Amino acid sequence: MGIETDRPAGFATRQLHAADGTAASRPRAVPIHLTAGFEFGSFESASEHFYGGVGYGYTRTGNPSAHAVERKLASLESGAEAILTASGQSSLAVTLLGLVPAGGHVVSSTHIYEGTRSLLLQNLAQAGAATSFVSDINDPEAWRALIRDETRALLAESISNALNRILDIRVVAQVAAEHGIPLIIDNTLATPFLLRPLEHGANIVIHSASKFLAGHGSVLGGVIVDDGRFDAGTRPDHLPRLGDAGPQGEAALWRSLGGRARIAYLRDVVAPRLGPTPSPLSAFLIGQGIETLSLRVREQTANALRVARWLQGHPGVQSVDHPSLSTHPDHDVAARYLPLGCGSVFTVTLKGGLAAARAVVDSVKVFTHMTHLGDVRSLILHPASTSHLQRSLSEREELGVYPGTLRLSIGIEDVDDLLADLDHALRAGARAADPDDQSRAPSPRDVEAWQNSPDTRAFLRPEPRSGERSEEGV
Ligand SMILES: *Cc1c(COP(=O)(O)O)cnc(C)c1O
Repeated sequence: MGIETDRPAGFATRQLHAADGTAASRPRAVPIHLTAGFEFGSFESASEHFYGGVGYGYTRTGNPSAHAVERKLASLESGAEAILTASGQSSLAVTLLGLVPAGGHVVSSTHIYEGTRSLLLQNLAQAGAATSFVSDINDPEAWRALIRDETRALLAESISNALNRILDIRVVAQVAAEHGIPLIIDNTLATPFLLRPLEHGANIVIHSASKFLAGHGSVLGGVIVDDGRFDAGTRPDHLPRLGDAGPQGEAALWRSLGGRARIAYLRDVVAPRLGPTPSPLSAFLIGQGIETLSLRVREQTANALRVARWLQGHPGVQSVDHPSLSTHPDHDVAARYLPLGCGSVFTVTLKGGLAAARAVVDSVKVFTHMTHLGDVRSLILHPASTSHLQRSLSEREELGVYPGTLRLSIGIEDVDDLLADLDHALRAGARAADPDDQSRAPSPRDVEAWQNSPDTRAFLRPEPRSGERSEEGV
C-alpha cells in the first residue's frame, strides 16, 4: 500500500508506510525473503533479468526485503534511490571505490569516523587514490585550496565525533557544485529525522544503519542514498566507465538512466562485484528499527541535552562538547541545520584526567561500556584508549580527545536514572582523580557542595521511588 494524498506525507507517516506491503498475500510487515535466489518465471524472464535488470534473480544483486528498506530510506533522506549494504564501512567502500579511480583524489574532513579515515589512508590509497584532509571544515576556501583535477569526491560528516563539529553543508555543497564533484555526507549521527543533507545540496548520503537507523543494536548494516541528479554532461571525464561502450552497449544504458546513472552504476557494477550484501534478515531488522526512528531520536535528543547541561554544571567536568550548548563553536551552524536538536552523541572531558575517566567507566551501572552508538541504551566509551588509540597525542587533541574525555551516546532510559548513574560515577571519578593533576581535579568537598545545590537536587532523587524497579534490574 502506497501513500496517495495530494500533499507529501510527513516524516513519521513515511517511516511506517513508504513503500511497504506489495506482496500478493498482503502481509502487513515486509517478509524476510531469506533466499539465495529467485525462480525465473520463464525462459525469457531469465534473459530479461540478466540483460535488462528486470525482476529478482540472485540476492547479491537484489532482494525484496532489502529493497523495501532502500525505498524507505530514499524517501526519508529525500533522495532518488538507495542501496543497502552489510555495514556502514561497506557503504563507504562501495561509494569511494566506485567513484574514485586509481590516480584519483578525495578531499575529506579531518573530523571523520576512525574507520573511514583508515579506509581512505590505507585501503583507498592501496587502490591508488590519495586523500587530502580539511580541518577548517566550514571555510569554503579550505576545501577549494585542496581540490585538484583528479579530485572525484568531497567527504564529510554532518555531525562528527568526538568534537561534534557541524558541517555547513550548503557552503561545501556549493564548492562541490562549482567543480562538478559529488559531496558525500556521512549522516549517521544526525539521522534523516534531524537533518537531510540532500535537501541542502549534498549529492550522496551514507549511514551506518547499525546505529540509529536500526536503533536496537542487534544488527549491522549500511546505506548509500543518491540524489538522482548526476549530470554526466558537466564532467564527462569524472565517470569514464559510464561512458564506456561495452560489449552489451552499457553506454546507452547509462545514458538512458540520466540523473540516476551514478547510483545505478554503484548498484549494478560496484556493490554486487565487491559483494557486501546485507542478509535479508538484517534488512528486515533495520526496517523494523526505522519504523520508530523519529520517536527514539526525539527522546534521545531531549535526554542528551539534559545530560549535557547537567554535566556542564558539574565541578568534576572540564568541558562538554554538545552543539546545543552556547559554548560550542558550531552552535550557530547547528541552529541553522538542526532545528529539532543535535542528536545524542557527545563527549565530556573530566578534570581528573585518565584516572578519573577510568573510574567513571568502571563505576557506571546504567550506561553500557562499549564501542557503539545510537542504541536505545545509553553507552559510554573512553576514546583515547580505544577508538583513537592509534592517533598521536597532538592529533587526538586536535580532535578533542584528551585522557579525561569520555564519549556518551544517550539512550531512551528515564533521564533521572542516567543522571543518578553519572553522579555516582563522577564521585568515584573525583576520588580517583590523578594526584599529579590536582589543579584540574575537583575536591570531594566541591563535589559535595555541587551535590547539595538546589539545581542539582532538582535532577537527583535521593529517595528510592516506591513501586519502581530495583537497582539490580539495570
Ligand atoms: C559506525 C560508523 C561507521 C561504520 O559503520 P559500521 O556499520 O560499523 O560498519 C561509519 N561512520 C560513522 C559515523 C559511524 O558511526
